[in-house]
Amino acid sequence: MLTIQNLSTSYGQIKAIKGISLEVPAGKIVSLIGANGAGKTTTMRTIAGQLSPQSGTITFQGQRIEGWKPHKIVKAGLALVPEGRAILGKMTVQENLEMGAFQRKDPAGIKEDMEKMMTWFPILKERRNQLGGTMSGGQQQMLAIARALMSRPKLLLLDEPSMGLAPLVVSDIFKVITQINREGTTVLIVEQNVKQALKIADYGYVLEAGKIVLEGTGESLLNDERVKEAYLGGRKHA
Ligand code: ATP
Repeated sequence: MLTIQNLSTSYGQIKAIKGISLEVPAGKIVSLIGANGAGKTTTMRTIAGQLSPQSGTITFQGQRIEGWKPHKIVKAGLALVPEGRAILGKMTVQENLEMGAFQRKDPAGIKEDMEKMMTWFPILKERRNQLGGTMSGGQQQMLAIARALMSRPKLLLLDEPSMGLAPLVVSDIFKVITQINREGTTVLIVEQNVKQALKIADYGYVLEAGKIVLEGTGESLLNDERVKEAYLGGRKHA
């Protein structure tokens, strides 16, 4: 579904990603893991069209999309749940969801998806008229995911969905992601919560200082000595 080849993105003189290649097959969950500053967010923002790559290609469902504007990429079927969620704090839950569908022109379908989101995320139904900014971190993450789903993406990009959330909430978020994937949406997730991200992944990549240094099935990476030592060795996410 998504193929990235030799992608590089810089901020001025700073090379944040340096020629990475990865693949996200249709129907799968792929995790990109790495420490702070490894280049995970830069990768996601480049795929979503918020940053322009220096070089390399991004092919989504057979079309080259690098350099496209973000709204065109959303329209093509690729939605990003950004790091930090970016909930519209002064808008209600329902209005936030409507924003996710802003490019769609099928009111009946939007209504149907709105109700589907309310069923998938009961907390959003309960809090339908509450302002986004007054929701808890976990609730905002659910809202951010639901809002992205309102564009009916074929591929959902999730940038550190577990960030800043309590362990029980993190586990709920990962359950939701698995469920979304079972319902037919392909997922690319970047995470510092390596254990959870690899547990749900069909395939994973390890990013270090802007380069892919290791890849394999989620299970093989979880059992890899290098991954264990660098990311699971009794540290906070282990
Ligand atoms: P984190 O988990 O901390 O968000 P990350 O893996 O997502 O880390 P990026 O945010 O992609 O990493 O950052 C990769 C590199 O690019 C880092 O060295 C970072 O300092 C640098 N960088 C990120 N954003 C900018 C920016 N706007 N201007 C300059 N350098 C940046």
